[in-house]
Amino acid sequence: MNKNIVVVGGGPVGAFSSYFLRKSGNSVKWIAGKKITNSAAWSSAGLVGPGLSFPLPDYEGLKGNMKWLFRRDSPVRLGMGFMLSNLSWFSAYSRSRHKILSESGKKSQYMLTTGTMKILDEFVEKYGMDIDIVHTGLLQTFKTQEEMTKISEELRKDGTVKFEVLIPEQCLDREPALGANKLSGIYYPEESSLNPRKLLSEMRRINRESGIEVIENDIESVKMNGSSVKHVVSDGDAIKGDEFLISSGMGSTVIASMFGLKLPLAPGWGHSITYDNVKERPHMPVEFSEDGVYAIPMGNSLKATSFFEFRGQSFKPPAERFEYLKKVMSDKFKFLDGIEPASKSSGMRPCTPDSLATLGRSSKFANLFWATGNCRQGVMHSGEMGKLASILIDGGKIPEEFDLFSPSRFSV
Ligand SMILES: Cc1cc2nc3c(=O)[nH]c(=O)nc-3n(C[C@H](O)[C@H](O)[C@H](O)COP(=O)(O)OP(=O)(O)OC[C@H]3O[C@@H](n4cnc5c(N)ncnc54)[C@H](O)[C@@H]3O)c2cc1C
Repeated sequence: MNKNIVVVGGGPVGAFSSYFLRKSGNSVKWIAGKKITNSAAWSSAGLVGPGLSFPLPDYEGLKGNMKWLFRRDSPVRLGMGFMLSNLSWFSAYSRSRHKILSESGKKSQYMLTTGTMKILDEFVEKYGMDIDIVHTGLLQTFKTQEEMTKISEELRKDGTVKFEVLIPEQCLDREPALGANKLSGIYYPEESSLNPRKLLSEMRRINRESGIEVIENDIESVKMNGSSVKHVVSDGDAIKGDEFLISSGMGSTVIASMFGLKLPLAPGWGHSITYDNVKERPHMPVEFSEDGVYAIPMGNSLKATSFFEFRGQSFKPPAERFEYLKKVMSDKFKFLDGIEPASKSSGMRPCTPDSLATLGRSSKFANLFWATGNCRQGVMHSGEMGKLASILIDGGKIPEEFDLFSPSRFSV
C-alpha cells in the first residue's frame, strides 16, 4: 500500500499488526515501548486454543462467582476502591454479557483464535520462530466430581470445543507429573501453548528483518490537526505518519486521554512465577480449577499463572500473590518443594466492559485506528488481530462478525 504507518505498542497485537502492515507494502515505524516486560504477555500463560477463546471469567460474570470473592485465598479479586470509582465499567460489564454469548460474539472469538493458531504455525515454519510451541492439549483438573460434571455438561451442550472426561487414573496416565494427586479431569486435545516472552523477542527479530523500524521507547504526547493526527512524540522526537495504530494494551487508555478520549479498559491484573531449568515438569499445560492456577511447561522452564484482580494501574502486587502461586505449585508438584522460582512478574489484561476487543478506525480521528482490549486472550488473538488491523488500514473489508468490535461503541 506504500503508506507511512506508525504502530504504538510492543505487545503481541502491535507486533503482528506491524508485521502485516509491512508485508502489504507499507513503511512501518513500530514504537514498541520502553521495556519488553511492560507487555502483559510477559506475565501471561501463553495458552492458545479454541477451548479458551471465550473472554473474561469462565466464572460466568461476577454473579455466578461470588463464591470466589469470599475465599481468603481467592485468585479472583476486586479492589473495592477501584470498583467504586469504576462503577460505570462494572455496570456496562454486567449489562453486556449477552453480546459475547451471541452467535457472532462467539464466532468472532473463535475466528481470532483459530486464525492466530494458523499464523503462529506458519511463523514457526517460515521464520524458524523459536517460541516453545506445543500442541499437547490442555488438562483441566478437579478435586471434586461436581464441578467437573457441571462444566462437561455445559461443554456438551455448547458443542464447539472437543474434550474428554477423565477419571483420576486416566488423568494420571495423561499427565504422570501429577503424581500422588487424585484429580479427575477434562482433557482438551485442541489447545496449544507457547512461551510468550520468546514470542515478544522473536517478533522483534522478525519485524526488524522485515524492514520495520523498531523504536524501543514510549510515546509521551500526540499532536492533532483538526480531526486528524499529525504526529506522536517519543523521546522528544515528532514521529509522523499517514495512519496511526494504537495497540498498547492498558497503555491505550493513557494514549486515548492524550487524544482527549476515554477508552473504557479496566486492568485485569494477573501474576506469574517461573522456575528455570527444572529437571521434572508436566509435559502439557495443566489447570488446577479449584485453585485458579495454570502450570505451563515452556522448554526447560515451568511457569505458573493465576489471579484475575481488578485494581488501578498503579497497583503494586503484594508478595503474598507470588507465595500463593508457589504454594499451589509445590503442593501439586512435589519435585518443586524447596525450589525457588527464577522470576516473578505481573501484568494487566486490557479488558473492555463488553469483553470484546476494540478494532477499527477511530470514530473521532480520520487517520487513527485501535487494536486493543483483548483482555485474557491477547496472545491467542494477536496474529489474527494484527492481520485484520492491517486489512482495515489498507482500506479493505473484514468479515462482518467483527462489526461488534467497532471503536464507535465507545466513542473513541
Ligand atoms: C497472568 C496472565 C495470564 C495470561 N494468560 C494468557 C493466555 O494464556 N493466553 C492469552 O491469549 N492471553 C493471556 N493473557 C492476556 C495477554 O497477556 C494480553 O491479552 C495481551 O498481552 C494483550 O496484548 P496487547 O498487545 O494488546 O497488549 P500488551 O501485551 O499489554 O502490550 C502493550 C504494549 O504497549 C506498550 N505501551 C504502553 N504504553 C505505551 C506508550 N505510551 N508508548 C509506547 N508503547 C506503550 C507496552 O510497553 C507494551 O509493549 C494473560 C495475561 C496475564 C497477566
